Amino acid sequence: MNVCFRNVWYPDYENKTLVRGTFYVDGQRITFKEPEHIDAMFADTLVTPGFFNAHSHVAMSLFRGIGDDVDLDRWLNEYIWPLEARLNDDYVYWSSMLACMELVRSGATTFLDMYFWEKATLEAAEKVGIRPIFTPGIIERPGWEKALQRTEELRDLGALVGVGPHALYTVSMNILPDVVKFAEENDLFIHMHLMETASEEAYIHNVLGEEYLYRLEDIGFFEVPVVFAHGVHFSEKDLSFLGTKNVVVAHCPQSNMKLSSGLFRWDLARDSGVPVGIGTDGAASNNNLDYIEEMRTAVLLARGVSGKPDVLSPMDVLEAATSVPARRLGLELGEIRDGYLADLVVWDVEDLSMVPADDPQDWISHVVYSAGTQAVSDVFVQGRWVVRNKSFVGVNPSEVVEEVSKRRRAIRKEDLIR
Ligand SMILES: [Zn+2]
Repeated sequence: MNVCFRNVWYPDYENKTLVRGTFYVDGQRITFKEPEHIDAMFADTLVTPGFFNAHSHVAMSLFRGIGDDVDLDRWLNEYIWPLEARLNDDYVYWSSMLACMELVRSGATTFLDMYFWEKATLEAAEKVGIRPIFTPGIIERPGWEKALQRTEELRDLGALVGVGPHALYTVSMNILPDVVKFAEENDLFIHMHLMETASEEAYIHNVLGEEYLYRLEDIGFFEVPVVFAHGVHFSEKDLSFLGTKNVVVAHCPQSNMKLSSGLFRWDLARDSGVPVGIGTDGAASNNNLDYIEEMRTAVLLARGVSGKPDVLSPMDVLEAATSVPARRLGLELGEIRDGYLADLVVWDVEDLSMVPADDPQDWISHVVYSAGTQAVSDVFVQGRWVVRNKSFVGVNPSEVVEEVSKRRRAIRKEDLIR
């Protein structure tokens, strides 16, 4: 698919401004050189890179609205883990379909996932057309090595992968060195939940001490790129240590607030030089996968807790939502740049939430502070047209709604939902 974007406005992160120009999609990548033929054209509108969902568990969409009013400990032990024990490829496929559609509708083109039954999620992601990055979840129990096998299998299928030790309270120093070694040997990044709740903070300080990050460093943890999900309870000392490492924090504000886990301080992370991306987490703790809403919550929270209305510019927020995690992981996406993968969102600048804009520069503020998913007009992932004029391409939403609902009723029948 070759597409021309003529005289469109798009973000230039280096100069922190919207620029106007013409570029193309030639097959899977962005180019500024006109291809031999053009299949479609957009003109005089706003085009941004697709959003990078930096932390998710997409197959959890089936559990939306379950265990709404408990903290993380009870939520995992009493609701999620018993339910997950009943999952299978079929449940995960349909749940992932729902999630991938919800993500792509809000302009997300990549999601960094940690879960199980990844092949079913891969199938759903391919059907919808969104790019998954898999980090099969490692929990220390007999057979945990299977997660490493699945990582290799997914990589052999052509998927992007990393290594996913779930957290320091589910993976101890007994096996973590082996996990890190696997990441190093295979040149893979690490994705782990860290410092999500106060009780996790107490646990880590108790077991590994306040210098726990040095213990991780001792086993080579920071020799590969690292994505830490949440990081709500990082101390300022933790943040200044992390500012010297190849780390990105996946900030999940809605999940953190819903589970009463605490409030991440984006301003302090930024001051320490720690890059921040934005993640939805799973729909069981969010409870939706609307990336635009997540991005807005992240910046509103940063302003609310810092007391600084100018803590992040709309362009800083957009960069965190599209490019920052991709850059950390060495991926050529998240920017409108020659040769980069064509992950693009075309905005409906006449949507009610995008007007008025007497200067196109206003559009960046509108995307960050005002737009709803209805302002997402078209979405391309690696050159594939996956949302076309606000409709999914090649996916039937009512079929997905029906199939997901059927499976949710089956779980309820088994009396697993209290
Ligand atoms: Zn998570």
